[in-house]
Amino acid sequence: MTSSILAGPTSSYRAQRGPHLRAKTWRAEGLLRMFENVLEVGENPDELIVYASLGKAARNWDEARAIAAALMALDEEQTLVLASGAAVGLLGTGPSAPLVLSAVNNTVGRWATSDRFYERADAGQTMWGGLTAGAWQYIGRQGVLQGTYELFGTIARHHFGAAAGRESDALAGRWVLTSGMGGMGSSQPISAAMLGLSSLTVEVDPAKVHRLADAGALDLITTDLDEALDALAHAGDSASVVAVGLIGNAAEVYPALVSRGVVPDIVTDQTAAHDARYGYVPAGYTLDQWRAAQAEDPQRLERDARAAMATQVQAMLAFADAGSVVFENGNNLRVQAIEHLSEAASAQVNRIPGFMEAYLRPLFARGIGPFRWVCLSGSSQDQRVLDDLAIEMFGQRRREVARWIDVARTQIPPQGLPARSCWLGHGERSAFALAVNALVADHTLEAPVLFSRDHLDSASMTHPRIGTEGMRDGSDGVTDFPLLDAMALAATGADLVAVHSGGGGYAGWMQSAGVSIVADGRPETAVRLRRSLDADTGLGVLRHASAGYEEASASVTSGGETGNAPLIWLGGGSRPR
Ligand code: NAD
Repeated sequence: MTSSILAGPTSSYRAQRGPHLRAKTWRAEGLLRMFENVLEVGENPDELIVYASLGKAARNWDEARAIAAALMALDEEQTLVLASGAAVGLLGTGPSAPLVLSAVNNTVGRWATSDRFYERADAGQTMWGGLTAGAWQYIGRQGVLQGTYELFGTIARHHFGAAAGRESDALAGRWVLTSGMGGMGSSQPISAAMLGLSSLTVEVDPAKVHRLADAGALDLITTDLDEALDALAHAGDSASVVAVGLIGNAAEVYPALVSRGVVPDIVTDQTAAHDARYGYVPAGYTLDQWRAAQAEDPQRLERDARAAMATQVQAMLAFADAGSVVFENGNNLRVQAIEHLSEAASAQVNRIPGFMEAYLRPLFARGIGPFRWVCLSGSSQDQRVLDDLAIEMFGQRRREVARWIDVARTQIPPQGLPARSCWLGHGERSAFALAVNALVADHTLEAPVLFSRDHLDSASMTHPRIGTEGMRDGSDGVTDFPLLDAMALAATGADLVAVHSGGGGYAGWMQSAGVSIVADGRPETAVRLRRSLDADTGLGVLRHASAGYEEASASVTSGGETGNAPLIWLGGGSRPR
């Protein structure tokens, strides 16, 4: 049996399921299945593109095949080394060392520019791995949905007085204006509907709108703003929920809504604005003109895209002034707008908060973040067993976990290998992984389970406009912790450890660390699971304690979320000069 990647780029891009191993161990087989899976659920597998316009799984198809072949031949005494999506070689290591070490596009500061990235990427010398694309950890909407769900739920509690667990009551009759129906953005109307929130999502590419409608996530597709507003008004009056897909350009639709005096309850955007060349269609361009301009006149295209983003951002400021809850959803839209605007106008842009500082940091300070598991068997029965286990282990103490699993298991359509994102914290992740390892060992589960997380997590991300905006100790742009995290994960024997830096529009903006580890049921695996998962979340707690977050110092005192994950904080960062 061969890997679907060895047959690419014309294969069906389906990850292997079932108990049959092609690699020598489940550790390597699990990573190979994840590599196949990001192509199965990705945006454009023929080009190895997984999401966010340019986020790739490997540098090119020759490298992809070389990586798949190496994974199939790998034994536990070896470590496969990848550099920017290319298979470099094998190191003799040992059974408790990582099987794969990957570094993607890490570049010294002076060279970390978009232009230099495009030049090298065009010459086949590098790639951008996004966060989870190049590390084969992306699980499609099964993962993204929860981040957006947590975000809208937190907004309901912060701004609309919702009690925990009763978010839908406060969101009834309200709606969110947003844009982008790409790999990440397509989760927005679905997450909103899961919380009883209506949505108007603007998307310039009709094919993306129809794709999401085919997935059952949109109630109405229109090009007519009046029709869209009527549907939202009707939903508000009748206490129902509607998801409207408006085919149009956000840089034109947002100002049009402002000039009509419309005030959405929540406003954000998830176009791929971080990349002014490949991620955002300027106002006035058709899709064909946009694609042609990428090759013919990229400088003019980037100028026009930033000007359009500035127009969109000014409309967002007008919504904020009128009373909408407005935030940036991690796509660098504000930075792009600022590059176009005068200094005085730029100062205003920072009135729009980033989602992390505004809503998610208190969770990260406790090591609670986007943990995920993937059933390597492909079995939905395995998925059910794991959902039940999560509710049994955490549902009493953290009711939001039980509520999330209940909603997710009924409302998130499977995509690729069955997977679940679940925001667990320090001590909880390792406790869960050990319980799962035991279920693999006694054959309750059909096959092993892979654990991973988004790179945008407690210790593992630095991006001064996304993960680490407004850190209390001013460490917004400091990359010490993602690098320490990768070292700690390698030292504790995770199966794959990846260090990613920005490319394209994110060049010079981000550094992250990723981890994957397979629970194959063996006792020695239980040791590595506990060590690496606790090291990952523990470092996140220590990072936030050092930066001055009380939730983190309390977590150190209590032994994490389970009371059973001790940490020693030496007070780093808190001592006076
Ligand atoms: P994508 O490239 O798959 O999709 C972007 C979509 O925006 C496309 O469908 C495109 O047609 C549409 N679009 C572009 N310009 C438009 C315009 N002017 N008006 C309306 N629609 C327009 O990207 P994605 O994977 O969905 O990611 C979106 C952004 O979110 C990226 O910048 C990504 O880096 C960021 N992101 C945020 C988080 C987070 O945690 N919040 C996580 C991952 C990614």
